[in-house]
Amino acid sequence: MKNFDYLEPQTVAEACALLKQHGSDAKVFAGGAHLTILMKQGLLEPASLINIKKIAELKGIRFDPSEGLTIGALVTHRDLETSALVQEQCPVLCAAERQVANIRVRNMGTVGGNLASGEALTDLAQIFIALDGQVKIAGPNGQRTIAVEALFLDFYTTSLAEDEILTEVMLPPLPPRSGIDYIRFSSSSVVDKPCAGVAVRLTVNSDATIQTGRIVLGCVGATPVRARNAEALITGKKLTADLALEAGSIAAQECSPTSDLRGSEKYKRAIVGTLVQRAAMKANERASQM
Ligand SMILES: Cc1cc2nc3c(=O)[nH]c(=O)nc-3n(C[C@H](O)[C@H](O)[C@H](O)COP(=O)(O)OP(=O)(O)OC[C@H]3O[C@@H](n4cnc5c(N)ncnc54)[C@H](O)[C@@H]3O)c2cc1C
Repeated sequence: MKNFDYLEPQTVAEACALLKQHGSDAKVFAGGAHLTILMKQGLLEPASLINIKKIAELKGIRFDPSEGLTIGALVTHRDLETSALVQEQCPVLCAAERQVANIRVRNMGTVGGNLASGEALTDLAQIFIALDGQVKIAGPNGQRTIAVEALFLDFYTTSLAEDEILTEVMLPPLPPRSGIDYIRFSSSSVVDKPCAGVAVRLTVNSDATIQTGRIVLGCVGATPVRARNAEALITGKKLTADLALEAGSIAAQECSPTSDLRGSEKYKRAIVGTLVQRAAMKANERASQM
């Protein structure tokens, strides 16, 4: 690795000021699970690393009945996996985290880094989008809040400006009669990054018809994507096995997988169809129990 300056701001404001000062020569450093690999491979050679790990305001998981769950950017995968609060309020996240990479990566990698890297083969964004999650972003001119969906622009490209820091993820409370499921599939080994990951969240009316459906497809394109045609298909109807199957085949056409070592485009579309079908059935079952 090339030599670099190592800076340790104590506050978000200080970190944003350093980012502004150093411009494209600087990189935010959180867990380093993603960044260190790129630097070792010589794909990134920042002149300065701005380590945000000591910034207390980026840590912690909170729950408020009216605001929902708030997850600080520095919360690690392992923190999420093992949090009793998350298990109580959003168990699908703990279940997903148990399948992320390996314990070493889960101990280092943070939620903020997972989202800010803009990496396509990840898990959390799909779930956050299905839950209508938002991210809070701080910059030298103050804070802004955007939908998690709006963060992702392309492969490794997010809407974060060079001098901005993702500070937290906010997941609003789910409406009554809601259920969510997330299913990921790794085609080579269970510790490999997923070749597809699908989150489905359904909110049903008292007569069991679907009021709101979110079907989010991950790892099958540059960014996570909502399968809006499949969502439209199921809205207003009662979910049956046949309808879930049809939603799956429509969703499979709403993503852009590429053929690679994890499978051909056709194979990945087939996987997406099956995952949507299964996740929708499970989400519906959970919604009707709430
Ligand atoms: C072997 C391996 C397997 C993996 N498997 C999975 C998997 O199965 N599922 C999955 O979801 N992920 C997986 N990942 C990805 C992993 O989750 C992410 O690499 C990790 O979460 C990144 O977090 P970090 O804190 O280490 O980020 P860093 O490496 O520190 O940073 C990543 C990028 O985000 C920027 N950044 C970090 N934090 C912030 C912030 N708060 N604000 C603004 N910019 C920021 C950095 O500048 C950098 O560009 C895997 C990674 C590895 C190495």
